[in-house]
Amino acid sequence: MSQSDIRFEKVSKAYGTLRVVDDLDLNIAQGEFLSLLGPSGSGKTTILMMLAGFEAPSGGTISVGGRRVDHLPPHKRNMGVVFQNYALFPHMSVAANVAFPLEMRGVARSEIEEKVTRALDMVQLGAMKDRRPVQLSGGQQQRVALARALVFEPSVVLMDEPLGALDKQLREQMQLDIRALHKRLGLTIVFVTHDQSEALTMSDRIAVFNRGKIEQIGSPREIYDQPRSRFVAQFIGETN
Ligand code: ADP
Repeated sequence: MSQSDIRFEKVSKAYGTLRVVDDLDLNIAQGEFLSLLGPSGSGKTTILMMLAGFEAPSGGTISVGGRRVDHLPPHKRNMGVVFQNYALFPHMSVAANVAFPLEMRGVARSEIEEKVTRALDMVQLGAMKDRRPVQLSGGQQQRVALARALVFEPSVVLMDEPLGALDKQLREQMQLDIRALHKRLGLTIVFVTHDQSEALTMSDRIAVFNRGKIEQIGSPREIYDQPRSRFVAQFIGETN
C-alpha cells in the first residue's frame, strides 16, 4: 500500500431513513484520477464530503495510507477541495483569496507570499494576483479556486463538478489543464461529475454510481465498451 492510497470500507451515510451511501467499498490509488459519475442524487457529493471531513459516515471506515481519517477534522486531512461555485471572497484580491487558508492556520507571512505565488503560477494566474474575482472570467475564477486548493501542496485534491458553470470551450481547456496538473504534480484526484464525456476523457478510472452504490468501476474504455448493466449502458449512452 502506498502512502496516500485511500480506502473506504463498508461506508454508509443515512439522513434519517434515507440511505444515500450504501456499504461502499472503494480503493483509490495514490496518483490516480478517479471520477465518481452518476445522476443527480446518487450520492457522489456525499462521498466527497465524507472524504474531505465535512460529513461523518453513519458507518464504516475511511483510511489514507492505512491510517484512519474518518474522525479527523478537514484541516488535518491535507486534502484540497474545489467546488463548482468557486466560493471566492468577492471583496478580496486573488492573492488574498489564495492566502486566506494559510492565514487561518497561522502560517508565517514570509512563507505565505512564496506559497501564494507558487500556487498562482501553477494555474497561470500570476499576472492577475491583484484583481478582484469579479474582474475575472469564470474560467479564471475557477483557476483561483484551484490555486487555493493547491496552496497547501496537498497530495489529494477533491473536485465537485468544478467545471459545471463554464461554457463548453472553457470547460475543455480546464479539463486539459487539470489533467496536466494531475500528471505534473502526481496528485490523486477524486472528481465528481454527472457528465459522461467529461469522465470518459479525464479519468484513469470511473466509478459509476446509482442510488448510493457502485454499479461498475473500471477504465473509461471498459465502462464504455463493456457496460455491465443496463443502467451503465443507458447512462453512458446518453452522450451519444
Ligand atoms: P449527488 O452528488 O450524486 O447529486 P448527493 O450526495 O448530493 O448526490 O445527494 C444524495 C442524496 O442525499 C440526495 O437524495 C440528497 O437529497 C440527499 N442529501 C444530501 N445531503 C443531505 C442532507 N444534509 N440532509 C438530507 N438529505 C441530504
